[in-house]
Formats: sequence, C-alpha cells, structure tokens
Amino acid sequence: PLILGIESSCDETGIGIVRGHQLLANEVASSVEEHVRFGGVVPEVASRAHLEAIVPTLERALATADVDLAEIDAIAVTAGPGLIGALVVGIAAAKALALATGKPLYGVNHLAGHVAVDLLDHGPLPQPAVALLVSGGHTSLLRVDDVASSITEIGSTIDDAAGEAYDKVARLLGLPYPGGPVIDRIARGTDSEPAGDPTAIRFPRGLTARHDLVAHRFDFSFSGLKTAVARWVELRRRDGQDIPLADVAASFQEAVCDVLSAKAVDACDALGATDLLIGGGVAANGRLRALLEHRTAERGITLRRPKPALCTDNGAMIAVLGAEVVDRDLPPSSLDFGADSTLPVSRPLV
Ligand code: ATP
Ligand code: MG
Ligand code: FE
Repeated sequence: PLILGIESSCDETGIGIVRGHQLLANEVASSVEEHVRFGGVVPEVASRAHLEAIVPTLERALATADVDLAEIDAIAVTAGPGLIGALVVGIAAAKALALATGKPLYGVNHLAGHVAVDLLDHGPLPQPAVALLVSGGHTSLLRVDDVASSITEIGSTIDDAAGEAYDKVARLLGLPYPGGPVIDRIARGTDSEPAGDPTAIRFPRGLTARHDLVAHRFDFSFSGLKTAVARWVELRRRDGQDIPLADVAASFQEAVCDVLSAKAVDACDALGATDLLIGGGVAANGRLRALLEHRTAERGITLRRPKPALCTDNGAMIAVLGAEVVDRDLPPSSLDFGADSTLPVSRPLV
C-alpha cells in the first residue's frame, strides 16, 4: 500500500511517503534554529512553525515521490507522545486530508515509529527484538514482539532523557544548543584541538549499583550525572583552575554511553533477543555506536541502526508504521481521536 505519514510531535514537521517498505519521500522541516536562543524547544514556537511548514512540506513530499494525493491508500499521523500544541497541527492536517480524500486514517505512536523506521533500511525484524530509543525527550528500552501491535517498555529514564543530559551539560559548559553534536565533536577532537580522555574523570553511572537493579527493569537516571559534572566544574572554577573541556566532554559522554550500551545488551541477554535496534537523535553519537558495536559483537547480537536522517524525527517513520498497521488489517482510528501527550508505547495505534 501507498502510505502518507505525518509527524509533528516536537520540533520537526515531517511528511513521509512509503510503498510498503520502500521509501519514496521523506521531507523534514525543523524549527531547531528558532529554539537555539532559548536553549531548548519552546512549545508555542514549535506549534507556529508546524502551522507554517506543514502544507509546503506535504507538497514537497508529493512532488519528490511523484504521486498524487488521490493515489494514497491511507494516512498515518503521530497521535502521541509529544507536545500537545505541536501534535494537534499534524492531527488536524491528517484529518482534513482523510476527509478530503475519503482514505482511512491511523493515529499512531511516535515511539513505535522510531522502531518501525528500521524496516526501511534493514527489512523484517526478528522477534523478540530490543529497541533502545534515545533522544532529547525519550530514553527507553523496549521489547518488540510486533511493531504494529505489541511493544512493551522494559526500562526508561526516571529523570532526564539522555539527549536532555547532553543539552544541560553543554549549557553548563557554556556550549550552544543542541548540546549533543557539540559535546560529541569536542570529545572526539578536531583538527586544531586534541581529543578528550574518556577516563580522565570518573563520573557516576546512574542506576548501575547492585541495589538499584530491579528485576526485569532496565531503567536509567542521568540527573545525578549532570549534577556531578556541574559540581566538578564549579570546584575547579572556584580554585581558579582551567576547565579541560575536551576531557570533561569525553568523560561525561563515556558515562552516558557506557550505561546505555551496557543496559541495552543486558536486556537482549535477558530476553534472548538476537537483534538490538537503536533510534532517536542520540543514536547519531559516535561513541555510543562504537561501544554498542563492540558489546553486541562480543555477545553475538546483531546491531541495527537506521541511517542518521531516519534516527531523528521524520515522517517516513510514521508512514512505515502506518504500512505495517494496514498490512495487519488493523481497524482505522475513528476521526474523533485527539493528541495524547503521554500515549504509552504499549498502544502503537489509537
Ligand atoms: P523526541 O524526543 O520527541 O524524539 P527530540 O527533538 O528531542 O524529540 P531528536 O530530534 O531525535 O529528538 O534528537 C535531538 C536530541 O539528540 C538532542 O537532545 C541532541 O542534543 C541529541 N543529539 C543529536 N546528535 C547527537 C550526538 N551526536 N551525540 C549525542 N546527542 C546527540
Ligand atoms: Mg528534534
Ligand atoms: Fe522522536
């Protein structure tokens, strides 16, 4: 089936078009630049940007895919989780399109979309699989038995998301938003600056002490790490010492990526999963990828990472999840569903 997917849960307006697992178009308009001076996503600014971007982005996607609206078999849209004022823009557009074309409409789960998008790059996912989703708004480990109907959360952050920790640590180091790519680059080193030493400072690994480990849960905590970095920097400044930026960046990054990769691989072992899939903006991180490659190879687990443009928020992930839902003959959503900011991943379809 030919599916149109609409994504507007955060700061990206995404329109994707797929035919089954074949990607025909993936147009994204991001308002990230507009949030830079605020140091984070401002919901009202994101909503207005979605309103301005949605029609032009749709037109570009149809042109790129070289299809007519009338040829579309079904429409899928992110129903949640996300920012309410952002979600409603995509949902209103999707309902209008469904009414105008008479095609079925599916309200789907953003997190399930991050999992489904990997089908475009790597084909069918053996089950059960484990998915590690790491972005500015989410950090969770999922057990995936069927992307369209059966996903279970087996762990999530109890405070900050991993990307949020990067953004907050960047801010306290005086670095620009979004912090992830900046810290990643400083830690890796540039032509003019040497790489940081990831073992220079031993920052805490949240929720990894024996007494923190709850049976069958793989939860994360990053707020203690952020506080530890702040405290370390503060003490150095008080003593009038320089801050070794690259070492702090590399050591902080090591703490985040060590915990994420260790728990993801442990989850695979616990569930007997042969495949580990990663998604979300932080999946672009070079150190996370290297640690995961090493640790999955050690245990014979297949690591699946969609290409970076599919890891961050986009419409193709919603379109391919829509294709899976249609493929399973699941019933379309009734036209009266609304945005659900806390839609749980256990509900891939509303
Ligand atoms: P949502 O959580 O709803 O998916 P989001 O906009 O926060 O929305 P993304 O756009 O997928 O999610 O990811 C943005 C986050 O990823 C930011 O927190 C950013 O700092 C982080 N990030 C991006 N590139 C890297 C990188 N190379 N290393 C670490 N973090 C990164
Ligand atoms: Mg984003
Ligand atoms: Fe996302």
